Amino acid sequence: MKAFQYATAHSTSSARELVGEKGAYLAGGNDLLGLLKEYLVSPETLVNIKSLPGLNKIERGEKFWTIGALVTVAQIENNAEIKKVFPGLHEAATEIASQQIRNVATVGGNLAQHSRCWYFRHRDVKCLKKNGDLCYARNSENRYHSLFTGNDCISPVVSSLATIFTALDATAIILRDGNELRWSMAELYADAWSQRLAHNSLQPGDLILRVEIPLARSRSVFLQASEKHAFDWALVSCAAAAEIENGKLKSPRVALGSISNVPHQVAAANEFLNGKVLDDAIATQAAAMILQGAKPLEFNGYKVPLAETLIRRALLKLKGDA
Ligand SMILES: Cc1cc2nc3c(=O)[nH]c(=O)nc-3n(C[C@H](O)[C@H](O)[C@H](O)COP(=O)(O)OP(=O)(O)OC[C@H]3O[C@@H](n4cnc5c(N)ncnc54)[C@H](O)[C@@H]3O)c2cc1C
Ligand code: SF4
Repeated sequence: MKAFQYATAHSTSSARELVGEKGAYLAGGNDLLGLLKEYLVSPETLVNIKSLPGLNKIERGEKFWTIGALVTVAQIENNAEIKKVFPGLHEAATEIASQQIRNVATVGGNLAQHSRCWYFRHRDVKCLKKNGDLCYARNSENRYHSLFTGNDCISPVVSSLATIFTALDATAIILRDGNELRWSMAELYADAWSQRLAHNSLQPGDLILRVEIPLARSRSVFLQASEKHAFDWALVSCAAAAEIENGKLKSPRVALGSISNVPHQVAAANEFLNGKVLDDAIATQAAAMILQGAKPLEFNGYKVPLAETLIRRALLKLKGDA
């Protein structure tokens, strides 16, 4: 890794000042240290943000809960109230990596983690996402790659928290040059859809402060399929959330991870599910709508039936049948 300055920020304004245009925020370090060691990023200054006051709290509100960007995945996993109020969020947290990683991995770092594409992660490969002229995955080893993309990079978003936050309609609050921006998860990843170089919509110096989760959906589910039981990313993940009134779905949301460069959701499928009494036929129809237009490559076609199964299971679990 290249030499860098190191500083600890004690306020959000000093964090912004210290990070400048060429620095990076350091939270749990799980992703960033790997990127540094492989020369994939070379910030001039690493700004340790772990001492920023107030960002490591989970706060209950009447209309929404607030999760600070420095809350660890383990804090979510071990919070008995979250398990009751947002069961899908609890399930997503327990599936992430290993206990050791969850103990230090933060919500902000999880949302802002970079691509896991193995070509991108190789220091000697200069692919499109590193301003090269070729996507090595497209016609080669693409088993972990996307079924949907908005540009010519097919590296999927892998943040499990982004997937469940999308289903829960959560809002991320970003500090940009002194102003707080309120972004949906779709907005947080919009640039990854439209621009091959982007992993998310954050600009240099943008700091994720917290995530707000509305209490509008009392049922939520997160399921993932991975090659290994633990210490692994999802091949496909699926989150679903809704209220159920008189047996009917209200404001349902379904989101998938690891199949697109953004958390994948289809508004027409959410609308289709709204007001329906769930059964296997409805869940199957919704799955078909969500996966319509998928473009499998040579080695990732298995993701289509896998995603279809996860959507059906997640929806039936939401109802309490699975
Ligand atoms: C074996 C393994 C399996 C894994 N499996 C999963 C999985 O299944 N699902 C999943 O979601 N993740 C998985 N992960 C990834 C892991 O959860 C992330 O690496 C971790 O959450 C990153 O958090 P961090 O606090 O360590 O971030 P850091 O490494 O400190 O930061 C990551 C990036 O985010 C930026 N950043 C950090 N905080 C902020 C902030 N507040 N505002 C703006 N930018 C910020 C940093 O500058 C950096 O670019 C896995 C990791 C490993 C090693
Ligand atoms: S999928 Fe994206 S990150 Fe991977 S090789 Fe292609 S351009 Fe690079």
